[in-house]
Amino acid sequence: MSTALNLAGDPAAEALLNRAKEEMQGLSAVPNLVVVRIGDDPASVSYTRMKTRRAKKVGLNSSLIELPTTTSEAEMLELIKKLNLDNAVSGILVQLPFPKGSEPDEKRILEAIDPAKDVDGLHVVNVGRLWAGEPGLRPCTPAGVISMLDFYGIDLAGKRVVIVNRSQLVGKPLAALMLERNATVTIAHSRTADMKAVTLEADVLVTAVGRVNFITPEMVKSGAVVIDVSINRITDLNGEAKLVGDCHPDVVNVASALTPVPGGVGPMTVSHLLYNTVQACKQQLATRAKLLQPE
Ligand code: NAP
Repeated sequence: MSTALNLAGDPAAEALLNRAKEEMQGLSAVPNLVVVRIGDDPASVSYTRMKTRRAKKVGLNSSLIELPTTTSEAEMLELIKKLNLDNAVSGILVQLPFPKGSEPDEKRILEAIDPAKDVDGLHVVNVGRLWAGEPGLRPCTPAGVISMLDFYGIDLAGKRVVIVNRSQLVGKPLAALMLERNATVTIAHSRTADMKAVTLEADVLVTAVGRVNFITPEMVKSGAVVIDVSINRITDLNGEAKLVGDCHPDVVNVASALTPVPGGVGPMTVSHLLYNTVQACKQQLATRAKLLQPE
C-alpha cells in the first residue's frame, strides 16, 4: 500500500513569506497590519496573537487592538473609519466570529473596511474583483491553498476538482481561484445528493466540512490529491486535546498527496495574510504617488 506525499504547509508558507519579503525591499514604508479583536474567546486570542507575532517576525509593523464584548457597532465603525484614514495602516484584519451577544454586525463591519486595506479579501468589492478576474486582495485560505499547490508543482489545468464547502471564506473563493487555473470545479455541500459519487470524481478533493472522519478512504479516487482545510478540536483516547481535519487516517493510503492537520493549510493562511499586507502597502504607496504627480 502506498502512502500519500505529505503536503507540509511550513516550507510552502516560508516560500510565500520569502516572496513577500522580496517585494518589501525598496518600499518607502514598512507594511503595517492592524488586527482587531472583540472579546477573549481562547481560539480568537490565540489566532490574533499568532498573526501579529508572525507579522513582526517577517519585518512588518503590527499591532493588536483588543476590545471588550460590550463594544458597540458605532464604536467599531468609528475605529474602522480611523484606521481607513490612517496612511500608516496598510491592512486591517477584524477577527471573526464576534462573540455571541456582541452588538456589532460582522457583515456591516467588514463592509466598512476600505477594500484597499481588506487583507482578509472578504469585502464585497474584493469578492467581485475575484469573480471578474480583476486584480484585488484574495481571501487568505483559498489563496494559500493555491500557493501550496504551486509550491508542490501540482497543476490544476484540466483537472476535476471537488470542493466540499460553499462558504464565503473557503469554498466559493477557492472555486473562483481554481477556475482561473483552468480546473473543472464542482462545489458540494450539505444538500449534495450521493456525496461519495461526487467526491470519487475528484482528481483534487478539497474538504472543509468541519467533521472528524467525514472523508473516508472509500470516498477518494485512487491517486487523488486531497486538501484538508478543516480544523477540528478533539480529545484523543489519552484524554489529550488534539487538532484533526476531516479525513479518516486511512485516506493517506488512497491519495497521492495529502495535507496534514495541523501543519497543512493553516500556515498557508497566515502567510497569505502577511503577503496580502505587503501587496496592500505596495498598492497604496503607488496610488498615493500617482495622486502626487503633476497633471
Ligand atoms: P462553514 O461556513 O460552517 O462551512 C462548512 C461547509 O461544510 C458548508 O458549506 C456546509 O454545507 C458543509 N457541510 C456541513 N455539513 C456537511 C455534510 N454533512 N455534508 C456535506 N457538506 C457539509 O465553515 P468554514 O468557515 O467554511 O470552515 C470550514 C472548516 O475549515 C472549519 O473546520 C474551519 O475551522 C476550517 N478553516 C480552516 C482554515 C485554515 O486556515 N486551515 C481557515 C478557515 C476555515 P452548507 O453550506 O450546505 O451548510
